[in-house]
Amino acid sequence: MNSAYHRRVAVPTVLSTAISPELADEAITLFTPLGSTEQHGPHLPLDTDTRIASAVATAAARELAAAAVGGRTALAPAIAYGASGEHQSFAGTISIGTEALRHLLVEYARSAAQWCRRIVFVNGHGGNIEATVSAVRLLRAEGRDIAWWPCAVEGGDAHAGHVETSLLLHISPDVVRREEALAGNSAPLRELMAPMRAGGVAAVSAIGVLGDPTTASSQDGARMFATMTRRCADAVHRWTPDADGRLV
Ligand SMILES: [Zn+2]
Repeated sequence: MNSAYHRRVAVPTVLSTAISPELADEAITLFTPLGSTEQHGPHLPLDTDTRIASAVATAAARELAAAAVGGRTALAPAIAYGASGEHQSFAGTISIGTEALRHLLVEYARSAAQWCRRIVFVNGHGGNIEATVSAVRLLRAEGRDIAWWPCAVEGGDAHAGHVETSLLLHISPDVVRREEALAGNSAPLRELMAPMRAGGVAAVSAIGVLGDPTTASSQDGARMFATMTRRCADAVHRWTPDADGRLV
């Protein structure tokens, strides 16, 4: 093991451009962003969740690599499709559903765990949680060291509103169509769950927005992004998954 690849490196290994010998190191923690391809109102792109998960995973992996704690980090390409059935009536949405996503995550992790020590799914879409919890619980019961972490903002709005629009104004301002942004349904999510279960997001918001993107700002986005990134890096460093495999 005296290959140059096995010295400690201060940046994450990017899986898509890596060569196999770089990954022959048992102490690798693999970051896999988990997103969706779904409508995000008239102003945000379909890959909003994937962008957020990828940016947080990248920044957190960099932070850990720079701090040189917990072995090496590697960044996988995002899984860009998820369970988005509640958005299906809007054009552009491509959902693989909870059962297919669960199966995908199980096989993905069984394969990747052959060469990496740990895998963390950095999830950017609430609809993926049921599949993620189910997959990670099974994988952990099989003895694999897999966990997940949610890109969430406490007290934030639900979909394509202030939170996601601010985050994208920080991460990818070029893809935000600010002039098209319209306020959506800002009722608390617990009140919207029943009609959404019956008729999807369209039943509670004709424009597919839950929250208010018109108040978004890149400054808020930068602040939320820094908090999420720090929490993600801390959670992965501590590595204390709860009963659902979620890092806390
Ligand atoms: Zn989203």
